[in-house]
Amino acid sequence: MTRGILIILSGPSGVGKGTVRQVLFEHQELGLHYSISMTTRKPRPGEVDGRDYFFVDQQTFEKTIAEDGFLEYATFVSHSYGTPKAYVEKLLEEGKNVLLEIEMQGALQVMKKCPDALSIFLLPPSLEELERRIRHRGTEAEEVIRQRMETARKEMNMKDHYQYQVVNQTVEQASNEIAAIILKNMKK
Ligand code: 5GP
Repeated sequence: MTRGILIILSGPSGVGKGTVRQVLFEHQELGLHYSISMTTRKPRPGEVDGRDYFFVDQQTFEKTIAEDGFLEYATFVSHSYGTPKAYVEKLLEEGKNVLLEIEMQGALQVMKKCPDALSIFLLPPSLEELERRIRHRGTEAEEVIRQRMETARKEMNMKDHYQYQVVNQTVEQASNEIAAIILKNMKK
């Protein structure tokens, strides 16, 4: 069986990756599966353990590192995030396409380990618009917003490491563009 495609979707915090991802999953023809990450961050209102993330304590996270259980992991604004390796590998072997929605440092690790991975960077129309979107979400304290904007500025400089850059003007346009990129690569 043909191995599935590993797809990395990154972009600054608040750019709308989560929403674009949800719409992408409505495209049945892409055969997408989502890799649920492990994080030491606390759940936001509405987030569900085992659906949005596996919410764990630092000790559990470190144990997984020690057991070589991550495909990649990184620290992002004082919290740890990682992609559990075994599940992703199993899906790819079954010929399924797996989407990782991860930040830059982790994405670079995956690009190195898996040169065949497809990498896509989602850009905001502008940094001003990005800040507006983060504030609009209303879940973060002022200091966290400041840190996330600072990280976002640095992350924007990394966009050229990705094979594709897509501007998120609207969720529909961005998800359609990404769907077209994935389809093109499935036919290769
Ligand atoms: P948030 O706290 O807003 O859910 O996520 C913060 C950042 O961590 C986002 O850019 C998100 O894509 C990224 N992220 C989520 N899961 C993982 C993961 O498993 N590994 C890495 N490296 N980044 C992740």
